[in-house]
Amino acid sequence: MTDLRTLYQEIILDHYKRPRNFRVPEGATCKADGYNPLCGDQVTVYLVMDGERVADIAFEGSGCAISTASASLMTEAVKGRTREHAEALLERFHDLVTSSSGSGAAEPEPESSATSSEVELGKLEALAGVRDYPVRIKCATLPWHAMRAALRERGEDRVSTE
Ligand code: ZN
Repeated sequence: MTDLRTLYQEIILDHYKRPRNFRVPEGATCKADGYNPLCGDQVTVYLVMDGERVADIAFEGSGCAISTASASLMTEAVKGRTREHAEALLERFHDLVTSSSGSGAAEPEPESSATSSEVELGKLEALAGVRDYPVRIKCATLPWHAMRAALRERGEDRVSTE
């Protein structure tokens, strides 16, 4: 258990120190901002949509270790996936960080079972520990909410990268 926790902390620290996809992508088709006043985290998520596929995803901003690591891990998990997959991942991630430990392990999920069985959290599990720190949950979910807002823009606004 301790080893797992240490591994998780290392993943978070690694992604905080060297965030992946921390940039403004070329030809971004949509973007959205997120702000978490509780902590002061600010994030802008950029998407390059190719039809229903997220061809590229990146972010910039400034925030705490949790929000930065969450954004970085999110971009890795979502890049190259479909919009549907990204939304399913968001739901699973949200469950991960909001469900209290030990409960709901075998709860049926009638509405999302079809999609959630196809998405794997992988390294995102490293952020599971925030559910024990309610103040941190918004830090972890902030970039995800920004991504969803960007996805739902449906590429109508072309973001200037200049
Ligand atoms: Zn934060």
